[in-house]
Amino acid sequence: MFGTPSAFLKMQAFGFAAAFLLVSLTTWSQYPGYQQAADYTMTIVMDTTLHQYRGEMEVTLKNNSPDALDRAFFHLFFNAFQPGSMMDIRSQSIVDPDSRVGNRIGELSKEEWGWIQVENLTVNGKSVQFNHDGTLLDVALNEPIRSGKKATFTMEWNAQVPRQIRRSGWMNKEGIEYSMTQWYPKLCEYDHDGWHTEPYIGREFHGIWSDYDVTIDLPAGYIVGGTGVLKGSESEAISTGNWHFTAENVIDFAWAADPDYIHTSEQLDDVTLHFYHQENPAFDAAWEKLPAYAAKAMAFLNELVGPYPYPQYTVIQGGDGGMEYPMATLVTGQRSERSLIGVTVHEMAHSWFQAVLANNESLYEFMDEGMTSYVTSLCMSHLFAEAMTGNSPHRSSYSSYINQALSGKEEALITHADHYQTNRAYGVAAYSKGEVLLAQLSAVMGDSARDQGLKNYFTEWAFKHPGPHDFKRVMEKASGLDLDWYFQYFMHSTHQIDASIDAVAVGNDTLSITMGRPGAMPMPVDLLVTFGDGSTQAFHIPLVMMRGNRPLESNEVLLDDWAWTHPTYSFEWPVTQAIESIEIDPLRKTADVNRKNNSVRFNAQKTQQFLRH
Ligand SMILES: [Zn+2]
Repeated sequence: MFGTPSAFLKMQAFGFAAAFLLVSLTTWSQYPGYQQAADYTMTIVMDTTLHQYRGEMEVTLKNNSPDALDRAFFHLFFNAFQPGSMMDIRSQSIVDPDSRVGNRIGELSKEEWGWIQVENLTVNGKSVQFNHDGTLLDVALNEPIRSGKKATFTMEWNAQVPRQIRRSGWMNKEGIEYSMTQWYPKLCEYDHDGWHTEPYIGREFHGIWSDYDVTIDLPAGYIVGGTGVLKGSESEAISTGNWHFTAENVIDFAWAADPDYIHTSEQLDDVTLHFYHQENPAFDAAWEKLPAYAAKAMAFLNELVGPYPYPQYTVIQGGDGGMEYPMATLVTGQRSERSLIGVTVHEMAHSWFQAVLANNESLYEFMDEGMTSYVTSLCMSHLFAEAMTGNSPHRSSYSSYINQALSGKEEALITHADHYQTNRAYGVAAYSKGEVLLAQLSAVMGDSARDQGLKNYFTEWAFKHPGPHDFKRVMEKASGLDLDWYFQYFMHSTHQIDASIDAVAVGNDTLSITMGRPGAMPMPVDLLVTFGDGSTQAFHIPLVMMRGNRPLESNEVLLDDWAWTHPTYSFEWPVTQAIESIEIDPLRKTADVNRKNNSVRFNAQKTQQFLRH
């Protein structure tokens, strides 16, 4: 996809055209065809002795919704890093706390807390009432922002950067001075599902596509990387301490600063890759190899999903985990080469999902983490030249999901990211089951329709906050199949997939097979019969409710549909020789939780019988 006109320009052109297309779009879209827009201009002055900063910000919200808004909300994420906050109590009360958080918030001294305190706030030049409520600022507007109108919020705030606990903070364990993520008063999103004012508990975000103009004043000598494009030269910014970044059409803005960063960059056709890390003899070799892999990964993902639309992408040693932001990621840098490449590929892959499609991650975390994990597995197989047959690049996600399902502790994929009963159930659902959801479509609609569907999904829903039904509809159009059942079962239930071979009889010239479905989730079945001479016959059995079937492979026979109401399915097939084996789902495309009942092997006799008891 390189060499074509920048996708970003195309997206922008679409944005301008969208106003004129609004009427026709709304006639077929299930959502009102609007996206809110915001424009941030802010200046930050950092006091690196106290780890405090003062911010001045003007943000204009354009209300493109059909509704008048009489309130507005801002996230104040840093207020989570105080003893007794919802994040602190949640971390201390959940049965399997994240060891990176544990009870560390409760142990912060007051100088180490994080906080944001808004001092002055006017809307369109007039004072308004506002209320700090934990990690939210609740603003009562003097007059509603009517549909199609703008309002400008002008505010000043004081803030303290928390001692690093999770993602953001000063001086984390790798010695990065400032990881500045979720760090400024950020407008909450109002979309087709209404307001999204989630308190900050620890994970998953949602935001308005916005333009940012951010000026950061630091003491001289710091090196800053982040979202956006630096205005002016880096050497001048280092010597003056004045850093000016702009970014367009992004849902967030993150940055990090350290005097010891080594900054390298790699120029691709349309995109500049930036890398910031601290010198460390144990890990420098991995960082030196990273740019070539990152460039290959971006080319692969451009081809797999669609063109990356921003002018730059930045990989920063942030010192804690790996976390995706628009045009940037903060990762731990003290990693082996494979681990550093793996985390970079995963976070970079988020650009297509978290940054550009930008579904509501709190409500539909699997659409972000799961789809990102899916393309990451494919990309890592590509980078390291590993075979990609059946579900092989995704095998560890299949195992992880199946183990969790069998443990009895699985929670439905549709659970709000913050509200799982265990961190493990969240992790397995969002990452592993989310990856399986996409990989497993191979068994339902076939690889080529699924792969084309993913590209169509990106093209049709970029910059529109799609939900699961939008993705489902794209996949239905790509396959010509009805997929309601697949998404309902896999997202909303914890029903498991388990198909079995229950009985086989081979007479002189006829093979009779009866299959069962001990699992509560129905799936189409692939069946492979291997004969004594090594030849094979493949069968495909779709479900009645799919209203069709995936494209057949050569030498594959299409059998009658299986009705989900029928616990068993039988068919006969003429044979002229002994059977060696019969196997359901030989390429392991489905997340069948019990493979012991999937296959039957015979001795090479002419007359054979098998009956499962
Ligand atoms: Zn992720």
